[in-house]
Amino acid sequence: MSFNSKKPKSLGTRLILFVMLMSLGISSVISIAGYVLHKKIMMKNYFSYGENIVNTVANLIDAEASEQYLETLVTDDAYEYVASMMHNIQKNNDDIQVLFISQFQEDGQHIIFKFENNFSGKFSLGYVSSWEDSFGDNFPEKNKVALSESRISEPELYQLNNSSDRFFIFSPLHQRNNAGMCGYYAGAKFKIHGIESKQRYYILFLSIILVLSNVLFFILYWLIIKSKIIVPVNSLVTAAKNYFLDDNINKDHFAISSLSITTGDELEILADSLKNIEKKVQKYTSDLNEASRRASTDFLTGLHNREAFYNGVNEFLQKRIPGKLHAFIVLDIDRFKEINDTYGHPVGDEVLKKFAVTLQAQFRNSDDIARMGGDEFTVFCGNIGSRRMVEHKAQLIKQAASMIYPAEGAESITVSIGITILSDKPVDYETLFQKADAALYQSKIRGRNDYTIELL
Ligand code: GH3
Ligand code: MG
Repeated sequence: MSFNSKKPKSLGTRLILFVMLMSLGISSVISIAGYVLHKKIMMKNYFSYGENIVNTVANLIDAEASEQYLETLVTDDAYEYVASMMHNIQKNNDDIQVLFISQFQEDGQHIIFKFENNFSGKFSLGYVSSWEDSFGDNFPEKNKVALSESRISEPELYQLNNSSDRFFIFSPLHQRNNAGMCGYYAGAKFKIHGIESKQRYYILFLSIILVLSNVLFFILYWLIIKSKIIVPVNSLVTAAKNYFLDDNINKDHFAISSLSITTGDELEILADSLKNIEKKVQKYTSDLNEASRRASTDFLTGLHNREAFYNGVNEFLQKRIPGKLHAFIVLDIDRFKEINDTYGHPVGDEVLKKFAVTLQAQFRNSDDIARMGGDEFTVFCGNIGSRRMVEHKAQLIKQAASMIYPAEGAESITVSIGITILSDKPVDYETLFQKADAALYQSKIRGRNDYTIELL
């Protein structure tokens, strides 16, 4: 497992892209919805504005109507009154193209009175116009029926819009409709001026509001995501990466235990879990170290045991630097059994411990000292300098041993030593040991308290 095996993609970059797309998507949806809604509301406002005007005309006509009023309007002086009223309405409302009063019949509308903007205040009176002439080919059939049958239905307003900015509105003249076969209506044709530019301004306004609100939303959303997700995730990743440095546990780095994630969500649980893992790893590591230390240590003296010594020497032999002298030393306390027999086993143990301390005092830390078992010890010196130095060491050991007394009044211990000196010659552990042991044997048979050196 390695964190650096391939370049990781950034969660932060992905999230910021996601947030940007979200903002863009939301602003687009709101813009389109706003546009449609605005148009709907605008048209609705125009229709009710048109309704008011046409209803006003219808009510005025109704109020003035008499049985013959409409029929005689063409010649009657009363039309002056209607004309001035309609003129005033139209003057104040640019969007009204045509105002008229007509009677709807099966085949079309009988226009009684029509006031058009194009004719600058001129009236056209009393002519019949077909449905198509009046409203164009697109005038729906159902509206013709609705208009021609309106005398029996509830009076209502008809909104006929053929395009987005043009529409007709009719309001029935109630009083007259009750009397005749076909309906009388006040009507108006509207053209909303500048509807596109009104919408454009609205869209611009809406866009600015949306852009500003989205920028704010984006910043807010980003700050929350950054503090609640990106920063905690990054600190988790850094801590984990530092802890498992180059696939090894970095014991000196306390990045995980010093993690402070208080998001109260899964990230906090993850941080706590990592801390628990770190504690467990620390415990297992120290247990493992202790177990391997014990496995390589002699219980009584604390020196290396036979196995650790064997491994250390073997390793050294494989990596040794040419041109150096090495010494393999075997030591055996003389007549140790007698010490046990005379003073007891615990005293013997104490002697072994003292001798171990003595040995350690004579050699460098880099030299490997071990207890092979019983009263037998070994030392391996990786770089002993010269044969004279080896002899000097043997003398020192003998002297040191002569300072160890098993008990008060007892004689000091002595030690027999066998040494193999080797240089660059290829050799294995077993051969070294046999040679040194044979040298030790020589020392023993010569009368003990002596050393023998074998050269390889
Ligand atoms: P030599 O001069 O020939 O070496 O005679 P020796 O009596 O020392 O004989 P040897 O080295 O063979 O005897 C080692 C004795 O060490 C045998 C055993 O009873 C004793 N011994 C072995 N392990 C321990 C130990 O852990 N503690 C104690 N106190 N004695 C041990
Ligand atoms: Mg012995």
